[in-house]
Amino acid sequence: MSKRIRTFTLLFSLSLLVSSCMNWAARAVAKLPEVTAVNKSYDYSGKVIIIGAGASGLAAANILERNKIDYLILEATDRFGGRLKKDTTLADFPIDLGAEWIHSDPIVLNKIKGVAGNTIEEDLVPYHLKSGAKWDGSKIKEVSKAELDFRYRFLPESKFKSSTWYDFVKQNLAKSVKSKIHFNSPVTSIDYTEDQIIVKTVEGKTYKADRVLVTVSVGVLKSETIQFTPALDIKKRRAIAAINFRPGLKVALKFSDTFYHNAIECASNSGERAYYDIAFGKKTESHILGFLCTGEESMRYIEHSSDEALVQVLIKELDQMYAGRATEYFTGEYRIEKWSEYEFTRGTWTQAFEESPHHLKHLNRSLKDKVFFAGEINDPYRQMGVPGAILSGYHSIDRVLSAP
Ligand SMILES: Cc1cc2nc3c(=O)[nH]c(=O)nc-3n(C[C@H](O)[C@H](O)[C@H](O)COP(=O)(O)OP(=O)(O)OC[C@H]3O[C@@H](n4cnc5c(N)ncnc54)[C@H](O)[C@@H]3O)c2cc1C
Repeated sequence: MSKRIRTFTLLFSLSLLVSSCMNWAARAVAKLPEVTAVNKSYDYSGKVIIIGAGASGLAAANILERNKIDYLILEATDRFGGRLKKDTTLADFPIDLGAEWIHSDPIVLNKIKGVAGNTIEEDLVPYHLKSGAKWDGSKIKEVSKAELDFRYRFLPESKFKSSTWYDFVKQNLAKSVKSKIHFNSPVTSIDYTEDQIIVKTVEGKTYKADRVLVTVSVGVLKSETIQFTPALDIKKRRAIAAINFRPGLKVALKFSDTFYHNAIECASNSGERAYYDIAFGKKTESHILGFLCTGEESMRYIEHSSDEALVQVLIKELDQMYAGRATEYFTGEYRIEKWSEYEFTRGTWTQAFEESPHHLKHLNRSLKDKVFFAGEINDPYRQMGVPGAILSGYHSIDRVLSAP
């Protein structure tokens, strides 16, 4: 290789490393708010409708409940949690089939609960891996201990030890507002022409409110299955169209023994593709390997004719990595969540740091101070994921209740 090509390759790799570090760092150093809606009190006499009972909608509802404000939640499906879901049937510990990691400083859990101090009540597993590998499609390569240590120091993630994100949200946010959720009520239109906003659901029911908070995913907004009257302006529509909401799926495979590394990063030309030990750090006798894939590449798994065929593709790939041991130890049991296939999700997650501030501003903008938006992508503190969704719920409901 010529000296010029070597220099170019080195500079290019460095710039990629720096830009990805900056992206992660943007979240790592993002400041949590000193005060959220949990620490405030509100005096509002109007009626509020929240659309969506995911983490964001439930967080906003808690503020209304605490302040004795008239409200209801319209949820399209028959359950709360949205992109949070748990399974208790595959293993001897609960498995998060949606969000799983606490990507940021766990102190965010106290912030969500409105608890002061740095002592975390929840029992967490520090996600400091003991082993890791990279798979390029033909060879498996060990990740050094130094690299694993560096990754943990750079982004110290954690997981719930014997609980789940779903349980945390159920306990701290859903419990007190569950009775206000109207399940199986997909919203199809929001008319904010007059003082009273008219919200209609698919079965033709009409609800009226003074303010509405929309917490559906960007994927649902992109699908235009909710009609706004007056129609959304061009800047808002462009912002919705521009946000990257990657397709993806999550699979949990059960084995009779652990023959794999804590995590195996796989080559991918779009999004993420990885196998990982879901049982890492948990108190368990079960051997559960997760598979998470996002981006265009996930479509080749999602589009398989059957779940069995999809699982066989994964077992075959693991057999290649581990000399046939996947077939030897596979119990035949698995769970699959094709998140982007669900009508009321339509994707996995968004990453605010990769989006233009201009689009984020227009996405978050209210409609005449009557219809407001919340959800992970609208988090002004850039925590992303579940904490981002919840903080955005608090932030947007504060705007709902403070608007003139
Ligand atoms: C596979 C996967 C892994 C993830 N891993 C992590 C992780 O490890 N850590 C992390 O922090 N985050 C993770 N995330 C992201 C995290 O799950 C989301 O950021 C968060 O749950 C989003 O919450 P939300 O309230 O903004 O949206 P949602 O959870 O999407 O909630 C929106 C709600 O609106 C409802 N709805 C939709 N359309 C309508 C309609 N027309 N009418 C009425 N209701 C409607 C939906 O049914 C849903 O209940 C992951 C996501 C996925 C899919």
